[in-house]
Amino acid sequence: MRVLKYITFFILLLVMQGCNSVDAPEITNGKLALHSWDIEQDGKLLLNGEWEFYWNVTDPSHISESPELLKVPATWNTSDSFHPMGYGLYHLSITGLEKGQRYGLKIPSLSTAYKLWVNNKVFLVNGQPGISKKLEKPSSKPQEVFFEASRSTVDIHVLISNFHYREGGMWESLTLGTESQILTTSNRKLIFESFLFGSLILAGLYHIVLFINRKKERKALLFGITCLFISARIMVIGEHLILEFLPHLPWAMIIRIEYLTFYIVLPLFTWFFHLLYPEEVHPRFCKVLTSIGAVFVLVVLFTSPYIFTHTTLAYQIITIITLLYLLFAVFKAVRNKRDSSIIVFICSIFFAATVINDVLMVNQMIQSVNLSGMGLFVFIFSQSYIIAKSFSKAFYNAEKYSNELTKLNAQLEEKIDQRTKSLQESKAELQRMNETLKEMSYQDQLTKLPNRRFFDEIFLEEWNRSLETNRLVAIYYFDIDHFKAYNDTYGHQQGDDTLEQVGKQLGKTIQGYGGTLARMGGEEFIGLTTNNSKKEIAEIAEETRIQVMNLGIEHVTSKTKPVVTVSVGVASSLATRSHNHRDLIKKADEALYYSKNDGKNKVSIYTMHDQ
Ligand code: GH3
Ligand code: MG
Ligand code: MG
Repeated sequence: MRVLKYITFFILLLVMQGCNSVDAPEITNGKLALHSWDIEQDGKLLLNGEWEFYWNVTDPSHISESPELLKVPATWNTSDSFHPMGYGLYHLSITGLEKGQRYGLKIPSLSTAYKLWVNNKVFLVNGQPGISKKLEKPSSKPQEVFFEASRSTVDIHVLISNFHYREGGMWESLTLGTESQILTTSNRKLIFESFLFGSLILAGLYHIVLFINRKKERKALLFGITCLFISARIMVIGEHLILEFLPHLPWAMIIRIEYLTFYIVLPLFTWFFHLLYPEEVHPRFCKVLTSIGAVFVLVVLFTSPYIFTHTTLAYQIITIITLLYLLFAVFKAVRNKRDSSIIVFICSIFFAATVINDVLMVNQMIQSVNLSGMGLFVFIFSQSYIIAKSFSKAFYNAEKYSNELTKLNAQLEEKIDQRTKSLQESKAELQRMNETLKEMSYQDQLTKLPNRRFFDEIFLEEWNRSLETNRLVAIYYFDIDHFKAYNDTYGHQQGDDTLEQVGKQLGKTIQGYGGTLARMGGEEFIGLTTNNSKKEIAEIAEETRIQVMNLGIEHVTSKTKPVVTVSVGVASSLATRSHNHRDLIKKADEALYYSKNDGKNKVSIYTMHDQ
């Protein structure tokens, strides 16, 4: 809130500077005495007060009757005796000027054409004042006129005619100063307006280009268009810059641009605020304002200046209501802690204050100087700042997200690497396990000898091979004798050890003859040899039996011998297609049965056919 105080103070300071100081001489009875006022030292003077006025007089030389007294600045129709449309001659006599000094007069836009005499000599014609609408050519360009004071008294006559505007007369103050004072002021105004115009054009184009490149930023578009409209308005108000470039542009066109830009900018501005603070600036307000603005725009486009210039007061009231609404909305945005709302609020107050100042000044309710240009500049700059900030924020976020994304990607890659690695490890493990499983499915876990399944495959292979070579195939069936009793006596664990030992011994012997031994299950083993003669087969069988016995594993509960023994059943056959190889196992089993019945620790051989 301290900022607000400073702003108010600043505006007051400017207003005070623009006003005449209290003791500046005023015009009374059409006369201005400058004896107590040194223009060069004390500064320029506004020619305000009671001017003499001659209604329907076109030339100083035609004055015949006594004058009326008219207040300046004011339109002549503020006094009820004069119609807005008409013409009249203003007269002022200034005394106390410094002889030989060069003076200047700044004549603002007067409504609507005028001719100015200094000491009865025509010095300036703006437009073409006339006695009828047809004869008048309106022009509103502010002008300067310079003269040398050949005497200390100077007579100024101004003929003003108005047939085009809603009001006529000397509605703004003329300024008297030294030539250099007037020139400096005009130049300063021109420079400031050119600066404002340039800034606005640039800001406008810049934001439109921003929008073209980033369609989401409708704020930028609205702001850009608003800037362009305001820049167009600046060309046609104040010093009428546009006439520097287009000197022949008709007055009606200029005044149309002035009104149109004003009527269009307000809704645009409100929409812009809506985009800034959608929650606080209601779209319905914007829509209603746009409709009202559209009606005013149509009136300006399709009626004559005399008619449409009457709409300005109504629109000024609408403007003030809108500005108050927007201020309230921005105030709410501040309360709701919206982005940049404090800056917008401060600049809005500043701008609104300058606009209100100008509206009051134009309506002659206060005396001041045009401030809205500067207010506007501050405001436009603050808005550009906010848009730039929102863009930077977008860029910052994009950068942040992209960085985070890169980081995430890296992490993801690392994770993928890890996963791949562990997957590969799992795969290797699986392979190992598969191999083990395969081994396990082909191998007996206790004795590490091939199991029955493996034996079946090998047996089939060997059988088929033997079909071609016509070899003798022998199956040896081993069964440990009284093994149940062994377990009962020595325990299952020792039973296992013995099983392993016996298996190993049997395997050693059979493998020694190029054969294969497998565990059949329980305490039974099965052997296979090929390419041995009948005799050799019998010897192999006998050898296995003896070697097991010779292991000398104690077996006290055996009814056959006090050591572990095996019974052996052998079956041999030439491989032929007429036999199923499985029959050989069956026959070996039968042979084993004989051995068992024969007292165990025996070999029985079954020969399937003569070899
Ligand atoms: P036989 O002389 O008639 O062959 O009598 P046996 O007791 O050896 O035969 P039986 O078929 O009655 O019993 C076989 C026993 O073998 C039963 C079981 O206790 C034992 N056995 C089978 N497999 C295993 C094994 O893997 N480990 C141990 N420790 N014992 C086993
Ligand atoms: Mg058995
Ligand atoms: Mg047994």
